[in-house]
Amino acid sequence: MKRISILGATGSVGQNTLDLVRRTPERFTVVALTGGHNITQLAADAIEFQAELAVTAHEDLLEDLRAALSHTQIEVAAGATALIEAAARPAQWIMSAIVGVAGLPPSFEALKQGTTLALANKESLVTAGQLLMNTARVNHARIIPVDSEHSAIYQALVGEDTAAVSRVVITASGGAFRDWPIEELQNATLEQASNHPNWDMGQRITIDSASMFNKAMEVIEAREFFGFDPEQIEVLVHPESIVHAMVGFCDGGFMAHVGPPDMRHAIGYALNWPQREVLPVEPLDLAGIGQLNFQTPDPARYPALRLAREVMERRGLSGAVFNAAKERAMDHFIDGRIGFADMAQVIEQVLTQVSADNGLIDAEITLDQVLQVDHLSRNNADRVVKGMNS
Ligand code: NDP
Repeated sequence: MKRISILGATGSVGQNTLDLVRRTPERFTVVALTGGHNITQLAADAIEFQAELAVTAHEDLLEDLRAALSHTQIEVAAGATALIEAAARPAQWIMSAIVGVAGLPPSFEALKQGTTLALANKESLVTAGQLLMNTARVNHARIIPVDSEHSAIYQALVGEDTAAVSRVVITASGGAFRDWPIEELQNATLEQASNHPNWDMGQRITIDSASMFNKAMEVIEAREFFGFDPEQIEVLVHPESIVHAMVGFCDGGFMAHVGPPDMRHAIGYALNWPQREVLPVEPLDLAGIGQLNFQTPDPARYPALRLAREVMERRGLSGAVFNAAKERAMDHFIDGRIGFADMAQVIEQVLTQVSADNGLIDAEITLDQVLQVDHLSRNNADRVVKGMNS
């Protein structure tokens, strides 16, 4: 029996992970499940999977969780420290699927126990890539990427020498607004931005897909995880979302990873690694799809990709600035304080101001520094938004 924990169990990736575990429960012992506001789901899953521990991120919900599990032996806890303790509980495989920078401290803690970390929380690599990779190395932990593009690259590199890689292509669906006139983007509503044409995902990553800030995060993630140079990483819009990534080698050959847009493939690959198991994904009907299209993304439509290049040039803590500004700008968009296209402007201003003001570009990365810079950048984003509205 493999001992596993799922951080962010109540979310889209977490529920897809549990869907796979549910199919062969005899293979797994569930150690810890964590969630946020969705206590009903968390309690139901903790009971179904007989988890040892259930944790909510929110201390004010502890009593609700306790009440929901009062007739069981399942331990309950709440708060940021409890999330870290859940990640520290001995487990052979841990899914990091909390959304946002809140997922970083638990990812970091999980690696310290030398486990296999299935990493969906891209914010961990964007904000603290070098720290995370070093922590994995020192503790003999393994990170298996779960983002579908990075899982695709990971799979294409099996048995290959990364020194022979000439370039990688990460594909992007183009999101909800790929065919909209650019001048109308500012008026896009929250509902429209939350509707992905191909993938069924959590709300925040769906909005980030519409603006391509999700792809910007993935480019930085690929740089941090695989160590490719920024100029080796290319993005192509591929509306069919069938080719997830391609790896080009020095001899001119390309390995393309092809699969249906179903996260259970990448999650299942990480869960079963190094084996492959049958997964409940639809078989591909390539003849039915007929043709695959690829286009260069329009820089005017997607300023996020240019900002990702700036972050990769600066490195240091600029990934933490970028992510915090992005998360906060999205909060303001969700709350109706700024328009869709304003998000990029907020992020660009914060990136320029915080990096320049604080000499953070070459700073050494520690977890505390990342969290401090995150805090500073959020406040800065709030000031920028206030300025826009005054
Ligand atoms: P969801 O919003 O669906 O789920 C997020 C999970 O994190 C939920 O369990 C939520 O709890 C919990 N959570 C939210 N806020 C906090 C917090 N402050 N502290 C602790 N836990 C919290 O997100 P997704 O599953 O879509 O995405 C998770 C991560 O995986 C993200 O980093 C995303 O970018 C990445 N990813 C997602 C993909 C997808 O297909 N969805 C694909 C590739 C990567 P609750 O809901 O109970 O409040």
